[in-house]
Amino acid sequence: MDIKYIHSLFLKCNSVSIDTRKIESNSLFVAIKGDNFDANTFAKEALGKGASYVLIDNENYCIDERTILVENSLIALQELAKFHRQYLKLPIIALTGSNGKTTTKELINVVLSKKFKTKATVGNLNNHIGVPLTVLSFTSETEIGIVEMGANHQKEIEFLCEIATPDFGYITNFGKAHLEGFGGVEGVIKGKSEMYHYLSSNGKLAFINLEDKIQVEKSKTLKSYSFGINKENANVNISAIAANPFVEIQYSNHIIQTHLIGLYNANNINAALTIGKYFGVEEIAIKEALESYIPENNRSQLITKGTNQIILDAYNANPSSMAVAIENFLQLDNSNKIMILGDMFELGQESQEEHKVIVNSLLDTQNVTLYFVGKEFYAHKTDKNDFYFFETFDAFSEYLQTTKMENRSILIKGSRGMALERTLNFL
Ligand code: ATP
Ligand code: MG
Repeated sequence: MDIKYIHSLFLKCNSVSIDTRKIESNSLFVAIKGDNFDANTFAKEALGKGASYVLIDNENYCIDERTILVENSLIALQELAKFHRQYLKLPIIALTGSNGKTTTKELINVVLSKKFKTKATVGNLNNHIGVPLTVLSFTSETEIGIVEMGANHQKEIEFLCEIATPDFGYITNFGKAHLEGFGGVEGVIKGKSEMYHYLSSNGKLAFINLEDKIQVEKSKTLKSYSFGINKENANVNISAIAANPFVEIQYSNHIIQTHLIGLYNANNINAALTIGKYFGVEEIAIKEALESYIPENNRSQLITKGTNQIILDAYNANPSSMAVAIENFLQLDNSNKIMILGDMFELGQESQEEHKVIVNSLLDTQNVTLYFVGKEFYAHKTDKNDFYFFETFDAFSEYLQTTKMENRSILIKGSRGMALERTLNFL
């Protein structure tokens, strides 16, 4: 594969596409074989819709000189991204971690875009396809690139770092997510730490949250720039954080009032502030940026529906994010509280235990009505007052049709597969 030649064609295009439904004119279409379809079959359609070149890995779909045959289109996409990254010499910040990557990525992006021309991962495109696409979206105009890297098994972050070769890295946290693929919490720590290994072996810098013991431990062998709360030794020392319900932080002589809910988001905000400081964004601009950011996509959103106030956190859930969301909700001084908690997926062998831990941790809770939705929670059904268990969302929605919730303060949290935002249709 002549990657230099493919790159020269790519430079003539405006963008890269892997989906003929979203193709742009003058783009490079990369035909990747998926589980359900083979994009080689769309080569002709892609050219018809405005692609200038198509990378294919099946010679039966060669059309003319605009179709470039490679051995494997996915590998070609990754190699192209690697080549492009070396071609552009811009600084790249990479993010990984169990929770809060997308939120932190977006916060960093709003902060840095106050001073630089930035480009960041779009949405949640953080895997072996998303990372190359993100790198290929950077142009000679881009001054800083921000890349979200997701992983659900070992060696994935190492692989993504080889593509994006970041100059800076930040790990949001080491939590209980994707336990199935990583093989437990120790596996998560090992997997995420692949970013630290990359950074230290290449003399690159890590941003470190001094509130996180694992990060402090790991940072001993790293070049780092740190933040903490009332920590004299931190490069960026935040004086106070609060959440009622929106997170407010105090830094130097600024009070920063955000639109994010949950103390756990303070970590994400502080990281963005710190990275802004590192890159010399003015404090007042950092404050403006952080205050302007409004979360979407069911991530820690505050919604009023009828007489109910809802914290909608139905985008995703795992034991760590579930625990912090519950803790945050319980400390709010609202009355008439309800929690609607959905199953947490991808926990493998630990699923049963982790669901049990959540149910047990709530047994002593006073004055909160609990609705558990999904098979995994249902397996730990108890007949405690104010606890309700539903094996399926359908059973829960049937119940909601007969029970009116009014003047309530409600937390909705569950895995993506549970799609608990559907609850809103019944409130
Ligand atoms: P994904 O693995 O889907 O890419 P992500 O790491 O990008 O997830 P976000 O989409 O930013 O994470 O946030 C998902 C949810 O994780 C939030 O709605 C919130 O409940 C929780 N969360 C966010 N930040 C943190 C944090 N720092 N610590 C713990 N939980 C968090
Ligand atoms: Mg994400």
